[in-house]
Amino acid sequence: MDRGAWDAPGAYRLVMDLDSVEAVIAPTCRADVWPLRPGDAMLAGGTWLFSEPQPQVRRLVDLTALRWPPIEATDDGIDLAATCTLADVSALSTTLLVDHPDWAAAPLFHQCCTALLASAKIWRTATVGGNLCLAYPAGAMISLLAALDGQVTVWRADGTDYRLPVTDFVTGDSANALRPGELIRSAHLPARALRARTAYRKLAPSALGRSGIVVIGRRDAAVDGGRVVLSVTAATVRPHVFAFAHPPTPDDLRAAHATIPAESWTVDAHGDPDWRAAMTLTLAEQVRVELT
Ligand SMILES: Cc1cc2nc3c(=O)[nH]c(=O)nc-3n(C[C@H](O)[C@H](O)[C@H](O)COP(=O)(O)OP(=O)(O)OC[C@H]3O[C@@H](n4cnc5c(N)ncnc54)[C@H](O)[C@@H]3O)c2cc1C
Repeated sequence: MDRGAWDAPGAYRLVMDLDSVEAVIAPTCRADVWPLRPGDAMLAGGTWLFSEPQPQVRRLVDLTALRWPPIEATDDGIDLAATCTLADVSALSTTLLVDHPDWAAAPLFHQCCTALLASAKIWRTATVGGNLCLAYPAGAMISLLAALDGQVTVWRADGTDYRLPVTDFVTGDSANALRPGELIRSAHLPARALRARTAYRKLAPSALGRSGIVVIGRRDAAVDGGRVVLSVTAATVRPHVFAFAHPPTPDDLRAAHATIPAESWTVDAHGDPDWRAAMTLTLAEQVRVELT
């Protein structure tokens, strides 16, 4: 490991945990991130990177050195930096009550953070970008973005950016749309969705455990079209979002639910697919009643 690596933020952690890593780079501006090469891994909170062997990783690119402002709120909505921690996301549920009392969706920030099994240490360290990139079905930030029409901004190596909805970003269990050399810069939540009233349901095999099912409903304000939007995450390997121009009936919910392909229901230790499918419909009905 070179001298620069020892000086870099986070270097002490890799000495303990990842013995294949030869260097850490800590870029302080966009141009210094590239060129990237095979064996490079972005380092954000490191809660996953340092939790298991990473024999293919030779170099870490510490994104926290870019010092992006974690949260930027404007009249257009909220931009969460990829390096924003879950603790900062959760705190929005309190601060928005004062700063943007018209953003009725505020409680969702904390609620979605609790959809992740997390010790206090992970809570303070895990980031929005790391959570989205891992693309686990139980990705708490995936639930948040799916419920609020969230979009992901991606930086390319050639200096250009692009944005895509989280429903296109997450392509399957632990699979995302990033191409080699790309990274997540931020996530955008539009004000239109933030003004909506929301209803949240989560089921997990244990009270504080990883989510088995997350169903979130949103009823947009009349000035924003009055749509009802329902998102299903954790129960499925990628987010499924349904928009209804008018408050849906139980039959509308059943019809939407029937469009989720059989192979989309998550198969893991946190719940059988049949249980997830049945309970998703039950929770969706509860959300429908709460919002209408
Ligand atoms: C005990 C335990 C329980 C967990 N439970 C859950 C859970 O319930 N749900 C869940 O979703 N996750 C869970 N995780 C996984 C992980 O802790 C979280 O997903 C966390 O949010 C990851 O964020 P991070 O900043 O620590 O990512 P890191 O560990 O730093 O990175 C994760 C991955 O994303 C890449 N990456 C990070 N940021 C970017 C970026 N901006 N652009 C491109 N690539 C990037 C990294 O290279 C790496 O491949 C758990 C982990 C542990 C150890």
